Amino acid sequence: MRNKFIEFRNVSFRYSDEEPWVLKNCSFEIYENEWIAIIGHNGSGKSTIAKLMNGLLFPQEGEIIINGQQVNEETIWDIRRDVGMVFQNPDNQFVGTTVQDDVAFGMENRGFPRAEMVKRIEQNLTAVGMQEYRLTEPHRLSGGQKQRVAIASVLAISPKVLILDEATAMLDPKGRMEIMRTVSNVQEEYKLSLITITHDLQEVVQAERVLVMNKGEIWDEATPREIFAKKEALREIGLDVPFVAILTDELKQAGISITNEPLN
Ligand code: ADP
Repeated sequence: MRNKFIEFRNVSFRYSDEEPWVLKNCSFEIYENEWIAIIGHNGSGKSTIAKLMNGLLFPQEGEIIINGQQVNEETIWDIRRDVGMVFQNPDNQFVGTTVQDDVAFGMENRGFPRAEMVKRIEQNLTAVGMQEYRLTEPHRLSGGQKQRVAIASVLAISPKVLILDEATAMLDPKGRMEIMRTVSNVQEEYKLSLITITHDLQEVVQAERVLVMNKGEIWDEATPREIFAKKEALREIGLDVPFVAILTDELKQAGISITNEPLN
């Protein structure tokens, strides 16, 4: 039996008293070592869920439990250590002048010893296939490479959950493929809970479970295969099932993975 790592209990949220509710009575659970995809049309509440998981926002109603603790002002520092996030814009995530400085940054803030930092830079850049770029200036990298470094920087802190909030949205198809491959490898290697947030159904194929959001509510929660079978209903809530997603799922069922190859 897997342990629950994140639990939303009847969570409702709005950005102010004057504005409408953007999450309405949402309840779901995410388990240790699970890969869950959160999908939904723009404005359905996906990013708000991510921010609630990281204590950037707090719900007005209901509660959120992460690793046995309720998310509130007192627990957010513990929770932020456990929950790492990578966002949409790769250019907004860099602070270092080289790739390795960038990966070091979060560790420096947390007072990691130097030898440990050196070890973790090597280990995490290798995991995302970016070790050979460790001395490169971040602005010289492609979008996909930047996001891989952003993932390495988060992993260096040893989070228990990695959330990617539309981390592929600004990338070209090659960059998207790079990121999907990276997260798939990382999930295998690090055994963490992985939450990928997207509006692109093709990106949910590798996940174990999919949470479909519509207008602030959980519309469905099922395996990718079960979700793809609801093609017509999905179209009504603004989500298209691309043919390639169905094909990738068929290949996966047959034991053939097109995203699990090593990087480089
Ligand atoms: P998604 O990630 O699915 O696109 P969001 O969680 O970003 O959806 O947004 C859900 C709703 O909340 C949308 O209607 C959006 O306009 C609104 N919203 C998002 N951020 C803010 C904000 N900072 N202030 C007010 N409303 C917001």
